[in-house]
Amino acid sequence: IVLPKFATVSNLATLLQVRFVDLQQRMQDMGYSDTDPDHIVDDENAQLIADEFGIEGQVSQSHGDDVYAQPPPENLAACPERPPVIALMGHVDHGKTTLLDYFRSSQIVKGEKGGITQHIGAFMTNLRQTNRQVCFLDTPGHEAFLKLRQRGANLTDIVLLVVAADDSVMPQTKEAIKHAKAAGVPMLVAITKIDRPEANIEKVTADLAAADVDVEDYGGETQTIPVSAVTKQGVDDLETALTALIEVIDARAPKYGNVEGVIVESQKLKGLGLTTSMIVRRGTLKPKMPLVAGTAHCHVRQIFNENNKALKEAPPGTPVRITGWQDLPEPGDTVLQASSEDMAKRVVANRKRLIQEALEAKQVEIINENRRIEHMMAKEAKEKAERLSLGLSVDEKETVSQQKTCSYIVKADVSGSAEAIADCVKDLRNDQVAADVLFTGVGAVTENDVFRAQAAGATILAFTTQVSRPIQRIAEQQKVPIRNYDVIYKLLGDISEDLSNLLPPVI
Ligand code: GDP
Repeated sequence: IVLPKFATVSNLATLLQVRFVDLQQRMQDMGYSDTDPDHIVDDENAQLIADEFGIEGQVSQSHGDDVYAQPPPENLAACPERPPVIALMGHVDHGKTTLLDYFRSSQIVKGEKGGITQHIGAFMTNLRQTNRQVCFLDTPGHEAFLKLRQRGANLTDIVLLVVAADDSVMPQTKEAIKHAKAAGVPMLVAITKIDRPEANIEKVTADLAAADVDVEDYGGETQTIPVSAVTKQGVDDLETALTALIEVIDARAPKYGNVEGVIVESQKLKGLGLTTSMIVRRGTLKPKMPLVAGTAHCHVRQIFNENNKALKEAPPGTPVRITGWQDLPEPGDTVLQASSEDMAKRVVANRKRLIQEALEAKQVEIINENRRIEHMMAKEAKEKAERLSLGLSVDEKETVSQQKTCSYIVKADVSGSAEAIADCVKDLRNDQVAADVLFTGVGAVTENDVFRAQAAGATILAFTTQVSRPIQRIAEQQKVPIRNYDVIYKLLGDISEDLSNLLPPVI
């Protein structure tokens, strides 16, 4: 079947001729968190989903003004090696950052550190034993991994699962296992903190096996390596195991041809304007190239590595920050090279138009649905009146309990975190109350945000982003609450409180 550029989940179920609940379940198994009937999926994702049902979905090629990802190179084995992308995942406080710092420090030891290390969401380093280049994702945990995956950007080659020997398998460990499995990414386990007196490596291995990890000790393929970031015991073994896995996956990509990549983070930076970090997937990125990602285009001005060093070119596997965007694309968006800047602009205009059309179609759908409900209610009222006038009894239908919602606008300094926060906020719901995110955005709170919030009766959540004095004043005038946060748990706690205030009092 030919897939439209954009379709709602409910439309997709119709197109694929599967039950909506089945589609929803399958999508959740694949790692999609938003499977509401009205959630819009693009054709690339629709294709992946169709594939899961064994249906061959073809992306509509009718919209000529677009650029497409290239098919895999004919002879991948003949392409040069590229640094594999490794994501550390695991429960909070189990030692991810410490281990990342250990890997990062090999670069610093080698004296290759240029300026001050910048957080760009990924960094390149060499393994100590083999000097092999690897790219570590340095993003805040699972949300980023999931976000990148959901957008069809299966960026990660290896998941390095971190489990503390004194704490064993915890909820986020299980979640990480689930994500790695769903992504079909090979996993390596580092059992950290083995220097702690309460460390119990056997328990961790048993718990991992119970959590469906095919650990080597139980005859499986997943290696578990006990390490201590303090005494450095086991870190060499971890590197050896990592190197072996890297050899197995044998990551390669063509250095020539059109550039493709994936956005990791988008940020507005003082002096640099709109910037993104991205990982080059194929081709060699150079300044002046016209790029397209999502509904943004870029005429590459500068390319920096994580040490703020300006690069003349970035081959596959390199994490870089680039400047020259006209708009900010979103994490996980595919970056494609356009043939010219004009073409890039046309592609973006075309994509925006298609999204607008999909939204308008959705609005029509909502209006029709509302009309249908109104019509039904009017009919019921009429019938009731007729029965009353005839002196017949009227069965009072149980009043359908309406879900109450609190609405929010989320602004954050890094778009990765805005999205992650919005996802967590949307998860706060039950049958009676729900948190609704109207809009997420990157950067400071603007006048527009305030007016948007005012129109919808929403609260603005400003996460590690500024609210200027004039904006504060406008918000006060418009009676729009703006709340500032720099800790996500606090933010979620407050929202839970908002929601519980909506619940009827317990009698
Ligand atoms: P993350 O939340 O997973 O990134 O965990 P961190 O890397 O921030 O580590 C949490 C705490 O555990 C920090 O206080 C670390 O110093 C400590 N830690 C990490 N690795 C080890 C280890 O191997 N041994 C010991 N004793 N402490 C560790």
